[in-house]
Amino acid sequence: MFDVTLLGTGGMMPMPYRYLTSLMLRYGGNGILIDCGEATQCALRKKSLSPKGIDAILFTHYHADHVSGLPGMMLSMANAERTEPVLLAGPKGLERIVRSLLVIAQGLPFEIKLMEYGGSEEDFDVFGMHVKAFKVNHNVTCYGYSVTVKRAGRFNAEEAKRLGIPLEFWNPLQKGNTCRGEDGSVYTPDMVMGEERRGLKVTYTTDTRPTKSIEVNAAGSDLFICEGMYGDPADAGKAREKKHMMFTEAAELARSAGVQELWLTHYSPSLNDPREYIHLARDIFPETAASKDGRHKELNYAEE
Ligand SMILES: [Zn+2]
Ligand SMILES: [Zn+2]
Repeated sequence: MFDVTLLGTGGMMPMPYRYLTSLMLRYGGNGILIDCGEATQCALRKKSLSPKGIDAILFTHYHADHVSGLPGMMLSMANAERTEPVLLAGPKGLERIVRSLLVIAQGLPFEIKLMEYGGSEEDFDVFGMHVKAFKVNHNVTCYGYSVTVKRAGRFNAEEAKRLGIPLEFWNPLQKGNTCRGEDGSVYTPDMVMGEERRGLKVTYTTDTRPTKSIEVNAAGSDLFICEGMYGDPADAGKAREKKHMMFTEAAELARSAGVQELWLTHYSPSLNDPREYIHLARDIFPETAASKDGRHKELNYAEE
């Protein structure tokens, strides 16, 4: 269904036992990658995911641990014989970054589309996945992302019969298309589809202090993936100064946003075992996981 893989969980530099933070989302045969630090292509392969299936790469910001894996990833996508266009999106400055990095990845067999944003929010769609980028608070311009998969309302077959809508139109109407009969009658989805049902939502924020924008945009997420650079309370000053978060701050955001589940990521290289401090976060928000690289979940629509 809506497939989530946290490829890596490290911050600052890739470690032999921990890749850099990066998230792969897959839905209906399409894929979005968020952040692409050094060695992200290895993390992807470790999960047996093909770089060919990445339709968009979104960047939170342009610190090296989130962007330096781009040239290698693009070359791997080319090697995997991707020919469809790829969307690259992120804060203002993207074009300059991409142009410089891709000097070493010339002659790619696919078109690159760029989208930059500078406002507090930006909305766009990537193959049925609705993306919302929202500004957070790091020491450079940085965005968080909510990705939502919508769920159409229930199809009312009785109503379709009553209206005499030809059978051949039932499927296209369920997919949201308007149909026109030979006699000129027009059938629109709203004639036979119920209210839109609750979809699935994943929110990803890293390299930021806690912000109101995170609390608002993470609200109601099935899964909230948030940085937890430090776990030890003695590092609270460092977290504030470097514009990062403590485990407990991520847990407080999860609680106030009312999410189902929190996965921590972007650990400091000095944090050997995040499980050591996980109880501090769980005291605030019990459904907190000290994620490891490759953590995966398939999100499915709620039973009705
Ligand atoms: Zn980082
Ligand atoms: Zn950063």
